[in-house]
Amino acid sequence: FDDLGRDGRPARLGIMGGTFDPIHIGHLACAEQAREAYDLDGVVFVPAGNPVFKKDRVVTPAAERLEMCRIATRSNPAFDVSAIEIERGGDTYTVDTLRQLRAHYPDNVELRFITGADAVYHIVQWRESAAIADLARLIAVTRPGYVLSEERRAFIAEHGNFAIDYLVVTALAISSSDLRERLARGKSIRYLTMQGVLDYIQERGLYETGPSDDEGGVR
Ligand code: ATP
Ligand code: MG
Repeated sequence: FDDLGRDGRPARLGIMGGTFDPIHIGHLACAEQAREAYDLDGVVFVPAGNPVFKKDRVVTPAAERLEMCRIATRSNPAFDVSAIEIERGGDTYTVDTLRQLRAHYPDNVELRFITGADAVYHIVQWRESAAIADLARLIAVTRPGYVLSEERRAFIAEHGNFAIDYLVVTALAISSSDLRERLARGKSIRYLTMQGVLDYIQERGLYETGPSDDEGGVR
């Protein structure tokens, strides 16, 4: 969406960050429903280069996660994929990504960072969370297994100046961890991600070994 805002019209860009190891229909459906609910001109998927919260397991090479995102989003003209986090190298911090996007687009482009109910609660721990709050409004989408109770919302509200919209999306109890685990056991993940992604995983023989644990993998 390079030209977004260049014609002077106000525009809204949704940003969907994640490891996407691999991308699944939970990601796609929540991006689509956020796009619709907040009248976003587009949603850009930004796969993390070197996710700081996932150092306890081996993450699939960035180039392959990126390619799977491209394959999965190809059929939606309102979706795009950006390699900025991957190209930046080093540890991935959301604040750097938002700064980069902010610098790239004119002021009439509003940034909306989309995040699941599990991730948003950790936001207060993110590096420079105050800066994140200045750069983008957040869209916190519901996710099965993670309740954003009033207490938690109050905690988030007290721990930063975040502008957050809470959005109920279709409940899909799907996670990349579960997909990896199924694949490692030779089980089917058909219909849990786009067919093209499935084909790519099969061609490359990805996720064939070892279900490695990660934060909150149990649903
Ligand atoms: P993993 O199990 O490896 O952590 P994941 O399924 O949580 O994978 P991530 O790449 O960690 O996927 O998530 C990227 C973003 O998408 C996060 O903000 C997360 O909360 C959100 N998300 C992922 N799956 C869902 C889902 N099924 N419903 C709603 N939001 C989701
Ligand atoms: Mg996750």
